[in-house]
Amino acid sequence: MERVQELTQKFVDYSKNLVNNVTERNIPLVTFLNDLLPEYYQFYNNVLAAFNQEAPAPISCGPNCGACCSTLVQISPLEAVNIWFHIKKEYTNEQLTRIFEQLQKRVNILNKISNFEKIDHDELCTLYLKQRIPCLFLTSDQNCSIHHFRPAICRNHHVVTPPEWCDDIEHIERVKIWRHPNLVSLDVLFQQKLSTYFIGVSSMGSMQQTLAMYYRFCP
Ligand code: SF4
Repeated sequence: MERVQELTQKFVDYSKNLVNNVTERNIPLVTFLNDLLPEYYQFYNNVLAAFNQEAPAPISCGPNCGACCSTLVQISPLEAVNIWFHIKKEYTNEQLTRIFEQLQKRVNILNKISNFEKIDHDELCTLYLKQRIPCLFLTSDQNCSIHHFRPAICRNHHVVTPPEWCDDIEHIERVKIWRHPNLVSLDVLFQQKLSTYFIGVSSMGSMQQTLAMYYRFCP
């Protein structure tokens, strides 16, 4: 764990410097999304790779498994803008139209569930999970189509129990997640600071609602 702690501390310093650098030098959003955020995610991945080597059992996650991709993933406004930024460059108009349609369907379902009665966030997540609605970006062969610009929380989610347990919603509490806790809070802080700086808002929300809200901020 010594190496993980050392790398995590380096990441703390790096992310603080990055925030200062961006805000003090008025780095444009496009430059940040093109050059600096990919570097940040690369460093984030490196810390996670070291952390995962310390897992108590082999990590079960891998290609062609999207069992956790129907959970209510929380992202920042900046991550939503980043996803749109890459999608707009890489997707055809036809694909974009399909994404919008699928997004609207998911937002409607989510609104319906949350309006149904007063429920807290955990209950909302459980109810949404039970619908088994795959993430917008999950392909038919169960891979992430936005893998290189996926949100941080999707990177920091690994399980160390048999993969088939993840599909068994009735016994989902058996699943043991191996997640670097400091990276979650560090990343939320980073996302909130830079979301406020670039977009003027910092609140995290479900990927569906946040994507729907921040499309217009995409450069
Ligand atoms: S963005 Fe990718 S990894 Fe994250 S929930 Fe969607 S398909 Fe899964």
